[in-house]
Amino acid sequence: MQSFSITHWIILLAIVGVLARPLIQGFKRGMSGNADGKMICPSCGTQGDPDTVTRGSIWIEIVLWLCLLVPGLIYSLWRLSTRGDVCGACGQKGLIPVNSPNGKRLAKQFEAS
Ligand SMILES: [Zn+2]
Repeated sequence: MQSFSITHWIILLAIVGVLARPLIQGFKRGMSGNADGKMICPSCGTQGDPDTVTRGSIWIEIVLWLCLLVPGLIYSLWRLSTRGDVCGACGQKGLIPVNSPNGKRLAKQFEAS
């Protein structure tokens, strides 16, 4: 297998990794039944598009990918698994879709207060 070297594999995996991210995120969005992206924060009542926060650094990821293939892959998967939506106003996790029953109740609560 001289024609298909490890460098080719690294480049291929990196391309697949980059392309797969928006798909995985779109899939997560679809699973939570939140197609329009409108969320409400249970702690401060802010409604709107959540901020997506990813732990770790893209630079560490790139360096790991360039130097060591396996840790790079593990690091990428860890970052994907820790990625989550947080409130744009207070940074709280656990946002609820506004159009869900709980979200509607929360929206009413915060409107009343
Ligand atoms: Zn908030």
